[in-house]
Amino acid sequence: MEPVVVDTRQRPLRDLRLSVTDRCNFRCRYCMPAEIFNRDYVFLRRELLLNFEELTTLARAFERLGVSKIRLTGGEPLLRKGIEDLVALLVEATACEVTLTTNASLLVRKASALASAGLTRITVSLDSLDDAVFQAMNDVGFPVGAVLDGIDAAASVGLPVKVNAVVKRGVNDRGVVDMARHFRGSGHILRFIEYMDVGATNGWCMDDVVPASELVNAIDAVFPIRPVKPNYRGEVATRWRYLDGQGEIGFITSVTQPFCSTCTRARISAEGMLYTCLFAWTGTDLRKVLRSGGTEEEIVDLVRGIWEARRDRYSEIRSEATVGLPKVEMSYIGG
Ligand code: SAM
Ligand code: SF4
Ligand code: SF4
Repeated sequence: MEPVVVDTRQRPLRDLRLSVTDRCNFRCRYCMPAEIFNRDYVFLRRELLLNFEELTTLARAFERLGVSKIRLTGGEPLLRKGIEDLVALLVEATACEVTLTTNASLLVRKASALASAGLTRITVSLDSLDDAVFQAMNDVGFPVGAVLDGIDAAASVGLPVKVNAVVKRGVNDRGVVDMARHFRGSGHILRFIEYMDVGATNGWCMDDVVPASELVNAIDAVFPIRPVKPNYRGEVATRWRYLDGQGEIGFITSVTQPFCSTCTRARISAEGMLYTCLFAWTGTDLRKVLRSGGTEEEIVDLVRGIWEARRDRYSEIRSEATVGLPKVEMSYIGG
């Protein structure tokens, strides 16, 4: 499809990530460390969140600018009341694929309603199959078994499932081959994500990152894998297939092999701030435009101008100096 709008690096706008809440029932150490996201932390008040009508207007406006995929995220999107109704509204209002990323804690309860609402597929985050490791990572003692039940529930209602695992050195890196073993042949594609310096609270340092090349070697030594061509330009995961026909596995190499040159994603926080990069620290208040009577047409014009001026390529220029910048938190902007 001919791009409707391109930025200063000729990148079209194709994907929209909508955060529907900044709250979460997990406290993953790499995302919402409990000592910061504690009782004193001020989350967004309900009236500040974009309502479903506003989210639908934005989705329509972004579709007119070329978006064909919408991902609902957060915080934990399944905590947002009526999330299945939002999915149904977006499916009806646009021709976009509507997907969702979740920690799966509420998925057994929600899978059927999400599938009926027309969700295209679902991504479940699961960092380890070892209960002690996983519970320490989510920091609320949530068990692996309940996430696996959520995955089964989604699969049983026909939702294609991908599984995302963030790898942190010395924390869960020893479990990657076990994860590959568990998910190969299951029909669920497992993707390992390099731990990123999103936000300013997780204490990221390069030593904590396990380069995907190291993971490829570890898995290849046990289950031989070969690279596969990307499905489309801008696909974030590099794809590999098991030589014995047991399916695919992916690696998201945001730190060691950045993919900014093909980045087609816009992100909107739960309160309606538009960001053109995951590592941004300034955005544009779309809620203000909507709540002062702004039309879909006006949103289209505003976003077109923002996208045309976009220059972001944070991961390509990451350095000691950029790591300490006051970037917005992952739980706020959505992953
Ligand atoms: N709560 C949902 C979940 O965990 O799937 C959705 C939001 S979460 C912010 C989206 C994704 O971002 C998750 O897969 C999570 O593992 C990933 N993530 C969070 N912090 C990260 C970090 N510092 N580096 C890499 N990935 C991260
Ligand atoms: Fe919550 Fe997802 Fe962040 Fe974990 S990664 S704290 S589940 S928002
Ligand atoms: Fe896109 Fe920013 Fe990530 Fe680069 S660093 S891939 S521009 S979100």
